[in-house]
Amino acid sequence: MWNTLSRMLHTGLLTEPLSVPAQTAPTLEILQKDLLEIFGRALCIRHVDAGSCNGCELEIQALNNPYYNLEGAGIKFVASPRHADLLLVTGPVSVNMEEALKRTYDAMPDPKWVLAIGDCGACGGVFGTSYASRGGVANIIPVNDTVLGCPPSPASILGGILQMIRSTGIEA
Ligand code: SF4
Repeated sequence: MWNTLSRMLHTGLLTEPLSVPAQTAPTLEILQKDLLEIFGRALCIRHVDAGSCNGCELEIQALNNPYYNLEGAGIKFVASPRHADLLLVTGPVSVNMEEALKRTYDAMPDPKWVLAIGDCGACGGVFGTSYASRGGVANIIPVNDTVLGCPPSPASILGGILQMIRSTGIEA
């Protein structure tokens, strides 16, 4: 045991510092500033998976980890569309989810915004339209903006939210 302790004492830390993408911190700062200036309160998001492969969900989930710290920027996911300002939709709209997506959109209070995530949300992506798929989200409900990618990175999704906030001039 003394040998192990002695080795630990003399070896020190062997791990390398984590490389952090330079654009992430400024993006979060800008997002937070814009939110406070334009919106004046938290932005509440309801997410609907309309038929995705779950790749986009993994990237959206990453937004809630301590690295991206979405809640720290005043943005949070809510369980009910009645509490939501923004609807994030992933995947092509499968026939089975068409009605649920329409009802979710209708349940959101005005003013409301929709962001389609990923190539599938934009145009149906690799799934396209078929007997089981209605294709892009805009085929079913009004869409304000899209974030392309398969899947888009968490930073791209954040950028899309920021762009939408700026372009629509969201006001509380
Ligand atoms: S855009 Fe790509 S990752 Fe996202 S749901 Fe479609 S196939 Fe999956």
